[in-house]
Amino acid sequence: MLKVENVTKYYGDFKAVDNLSFDVDSGEIFGLLGVNGAGKTTTFRMIMNLIEPNSGKITFNNKKIDYNLTDKIGFLTEERSLLTKLTVKEQMLFYGALKSLDEDTILRRLDKLLKRFEISEYKDRKINTLSKGNQQKVQFISAIINEPKLLILDEPFSGLDPINIELFKSVILELKQKGTSIIFSSHRMDHVELFCEKLVILVKGKSVLEGYLKDIKKDYKIKKIIIEGDVVKKDLEKIEGVISVLKTACSYEVNIRDESYSKNVFEYVKTRNNVTKYVMEEPSLEEIFVAKVGEAYGK
Ligand code: ATP
Repeated sequence: MLKVENVTKYYGDFKAVDNLSFDVDSGEIFGLLGVNGAGKTTTFRMIMNLIEPNSGKITFNNKKIDYNLTDKIGFLTEERSLLTKLTVKEQMLFYGALKSLDEDTILRRLDKLLKRFEISEYKDRKINTLSKGNQQKVQFISAIINEPKLLILDEPFSGLDPINIELFKSVILELKQKGTSIIFSSHRMDHVELFCEKLVILVKGKSVLEGYLKDIKKDYKIKKIIIEGDVVKKDLEKIEGVISVLKTACSYEVNIRDESYSKNVFEYVKTRNNVTKYVMEEPSLEEIFVAKVGEAYGK
C-alpha cells in the first residue's frame, strides 16, 4: 500500500503541496485531481523520490521509497519522455536496464506488450517515425515493462483516439486485477469516473474533497432532475429549492438544493402536458469538481 502522510512541499516560500494525506491499496485505482498548478506533478515527483517533501512522509508497503523501490514503480508522465532517435526496442532496453532488468526479460516482456498494444510491427522502427498515438503506446509500455507494483498515470489518454482509449482502459484494468496500485490523474472527469474508486481533489496543494467516489456522489446534496416535455424554464427557476435550470437540445436539467425539493418540481411538472421524462440523477464528477474548485476559490 502507498501511504502519503501529511506531506508538505515548498518551492522557496511558495507552498505547492499543503499537508496532503491519502493512501492507495493494492489493486486500487486512485484519482489525484486538480486544476493546472494544483500540485499533482509535485506529488508524483515526491512519490517517485525525485524531490523530497519538506515535511510528512511517503511509504510503500511500510518502507520509505528509495532506489530499490523505484524499480517497482512505473511512471507515465504527461510530457513525452521518449528518446525519439532510438528504435522502440533500443528504448525499451535502455528503460528496462534503468529498472534493473536483464536483456532477456526485457525482450520477452516487450514482445508480449507490443502484441497487446497491437504494434508488434514497430519494434525496430525509430520512435520519431511513429504517430502520436503509437508513441503514447510506447511510452505506456516503458512505464510497465518493469511490471510495477505501483503505477502512476499522468494523463494517460492524451493524444489517443477512442479505439485506443478503450485498449488502454482494458490494459489498466488488467493491471488492477493483478494487484497493481494505480494513481491516475486526468483533467477529463469522465475518464476518472470510469476508473477511480477513490480520489482527492487538490486546490492550491490542499485537499478540498476526498474519499470514495460513490460516497462523494451520495453525500453531495445538489441533485439534478432531467425533464423532457412541455415545461417553461422561467417557471422552473421560480420553484423553491431550484438552483439553476439548463435547457439542452432536447431536455431541461434542473439543479435542486437537495433531494427533498424534488417534490416541488414534480408538483409543477404534473400541471404540464406532454412530459415524457422526469428522472432525478446524481451529479457527475465534473459538476462536483467544478463546484468544489469554485467554492475553494470563493466563487
Ligand atoms: P498541471 O495540471 O498544470 O500539470 P500540477 O497540478 O501538476 O499542474 P505542479 O506542477 O505540481 O501542478 O505545480 C504546483 C505549483 O508549484 C504551481 O504553482 C507551479 O508553478 C509550482 N512549481 C512547480 N514546480 C516548481 C519549481 N521547480 N519551482 C518553483 N515552483 C514550482
